[in-house]
Amino acid sequence: MGVTLDLSRAPAPKTAATPVKPNITGMTREELRAAIVAADVAPAEKAKMRATQVWRWVHHYGVTDFDRMTDVAKETRAKLAEAFTLDRPEIVERQVSKDGTRKWLIRTAPGVEVETVYIPDVGRAGALCVSSQVGCTLNCTFCHTGTQALVRNLTAAEIVAQVQVARDDLGEWPSPKEDRRLSNIVFMGMGEPLYNLDHVAAAIDIIADNEGIAISRRRITVSTSGVVPELTALGERTQAMLAISLHATRDELRDVLVPLNKKYPIAELMAGIRAYPGLSNSKRVTFEYVMLKGVNDTPADAKALVKLLAGVPAKINLIPFNPWPGTVYECSSWSTIEAFAAILNRAGYASPIRTPRGRDILAACGQLKSESEKLRASARRKAAAPQ
Ligand code: SAH
Ligand code: SF4
Repeated sequence: MGVTLDLSRAPAPKTAATPVKPNITGMTREELRAAIVAADVAPAEKAKMRATQVWRWVHHYGVTDFDRMTDVAKETRAKLAEAFTLDRPEIVERQVSKDGTRKWLIRTAPGVEVETVYIPDVGRAGALCVSSQVGCTLNCTFCHTGTQALVRNLTAAEIVAQVQVARDDLGEWPSPKEDRRLSNIVFMGMGEPLYNLDHVAAAIDIIADNEGIAISRRRITVSTSGVVPELTALGERTQAMLAISLHATRDELRDVLVPLNKKYPIAELMAGIRAYPGLSNSKRVTFEYVMLKGVNDTPADAKALVKLLAGVPAKINLIPFNPWPGTVYECSSWSTIEAFAAILNRAGYASPIRTPRGRDILAACGQLKSESEKLRASARRKAAAPQ
């Protein structure tokens, strides 16, 4: 069954403003080698060596100018610059929260804007929450992204660019060996990564490469609402850590919260998770569970969750619901969340509550992009209003 959107393979629409030159940022090593031969930058027998040199400049040193590639001959640098680009996307907006969370609104092409959020003190040092699509085709009822129409899948270059922008801003070039601020990547921004697996997998190959950004696959987590037929492919192609947006333990409720559940109900989802390649006690699945007042937050729900996950190497992440204008849901009270967490704790799940971060800059889960768009629209309205 074809569950991957055809869009994922479609080239970005060509407009006058779309650069014609391919950006090296989104090429895997093999693609870079082939592109170097095709563009006549180096003969086939030298292309691999040339590709390795360029790769290190781009992904280890983070250069955006071919002239900084000092061990590459001048004529070759000129040829590279003629055939390719290293341009970063435009940063439309940058915000820093009181708690150190940073958020960037990035324009990768005309009309294509994505948000990326850096959250300090998550994972080993700090995590970057990246988007895989603009908008989302799935309509989870508690998610603001779900109310937006899908604009399109992001390309590998557009996914890697989010990491580069964060690295530029954090001053982390060349790739530090230790004491990194950006240590983890989570695909928990906008979109459903398993509907864009080709580009997500290529981006992970690039980000994880040891001679580049070098963020290990075990520090890269892909979150899905449960596209069961793609789980094995995700594990085999990326060896990434898996996170599942569960949110309910009964089909009747999950059908409402995560409508994709009607296609892949909980029993099928759990079977798919148990078969995830490489799953073990040192490589656990994270189950995300959004706390919705009066919907899924009783002690009985907590016990049902413990029962459902029995035997699965799992971590649980309770996410306080982040409200957005027009939503019918409310966040559970703090005492309800603590009571829920206590039941999970007793069952052996450690520190399961995810503290909300970056709320003052609207950087929380499920708030991405739409909120900034709304604010900018209201700022425009204000500016246009007669005094
Ligand atoms: N589409 C993927 C990844 C992006 S969503 C997925 O659904 O897993 C990342 C996480 O944020 C998911 O667990 C999602 O359920 C959660 N989320 C979405 N909207 C939210 C909101 N308003 N408050 C709290 N968590 C939310
Ligand atoms: Fe899409 Fe994830 Fe939001 Fe559901 S929760 S609408 S899958 S982004």
